[in-house]
Amino acid sequence: IYCVGRNYASHVREMGHDPDRDLPFFFMKPPDAIVESGGTVAYPPQTTNLHHEMELVAAIGKTGADISPEQANDYIWGYGVGIDLTRRDLQEEAKNQGRPWDAGKGFDQSGPISALHPAAEIGHPSTGRIWLEVNGETRQDSDIDKLIWSIPEVISHLSGLFTIEPGDLIYTGTPAGVGPVVAGDRITGGVDGVDTLTIGIV
Ligand code: MN
Repeated sequence: IYCVGRNYASHVREMGHDPDRDLPFFFMKPPDAIVESGGTVAYPPQTTNLHHEMELVAAIGKTGADISPEQANDYIWGYGVGIDLTRRDLQEEAKNQGRPWDAGKGFDQSGPISALHPAAEIGHPSTGRIWLEVNGETRQDSDIDKLIWSIPEVISHLSGLFTIEPGDLIYTGTPAGVGPVVAGDRITGGVDGVDTLTIGIV
């Protein structure tokens, strides 16, 4: 599971950075980060600041490397929506000390995801509301047309660093409005034209 950092200007600003269109950068989550929509996530250990980040997810269907943006859609099997759950306190500590983000980002159950839908059915979404509610209150509300790096551009950069393979997922970044959740919260979010997901924090 590859994740893109700082890919909506509104979120870049809320995290205290300048959205100057630096090259996209990546971090990863392990496969056991996956939790299917409708399930629950146990509040993880060693954090007091668990954040939601709603994201459009692209699912890779074909092996490739050094892919051009023009070719990128050929490597996408389909799309879903996911949440990049983040132990924000551990991520901030890692940033401050110049250490890797794994403990802040790549923990158990950190990547809840909807069903995946084939591009052959839903196309390649480039616009559509991206939103997230906690207990019915809207926290994130934007549009995937505000991605700094489009999904074809992301795949081009990613595949210059790593060979992408069928089964790889790419969480493409989150808009503004990230914030904490606690045990007992119910998170619902989606991207219009793709899907929605619901998860309980327990
Ligand atoms: Mn994210």
